[in-house]
Amino acid sequence: MIIFGTRNRFKTIGTGQFYCPHCQTQRTYERKQAKRYFTLYFVPLIPMGDLGEYVECQTCHRTFQADVLTMKPTSKPLSAVELLNSVKTRLLAGDPIEYVVRDLTAAGIERDVATSLVSSSIGSSRKLCKNCNLSYASDVTVCKECNQPLPEIHK
Ligand SMILES: [Zn+2]
Ligand SMILES: [Zn+2]
Repeated sequence: MIIFGTRNRFKTIGTGQFYCPHCQTQRTYERKQAKRYFTLYFVPLIPMGDLGEYVECQTCHRTFQADVLTMKPTSKPLSAVELLNSVKTRLLAGDPIEYVVRDLTAAGIERDVATSLVSSSIGSSRKLCKNCNLSYASDVTVCKECNQPLPEIHK
């Protein structure tokens, strides 16, 4: 009896770093090519067709279309709510307001919008580190740059 069938083989054709949409950060990927083979006695003999290429994240092992490699982190726009939440979280964690605003403007947000995002996240009172000339949310107690305690707000 002749045993024949088909089998898919996967060949790694490249590797590198990419922005994984699932991990939402830089990860190592393997680019793979899938081909279907005609097999005889379980030995792949004749390539029968290209099943295409895909990219596999080596961290979460999800697979993506090959065009994921050209994707940039900024091509996934954060929703207004996500952006607002990250601003508030960072400011309450003690990031200087100037740094948060800088990152927002670097992401293409108008400076006016960025500063009003800050105000709507943490209110209008600020603490100021006189050494570094950086301002903080009123709940922050220590300057992140110089580790000095921030002065209380006097009203
Ligand atoms: Zn991943
Ligand atoms: Zn400081």
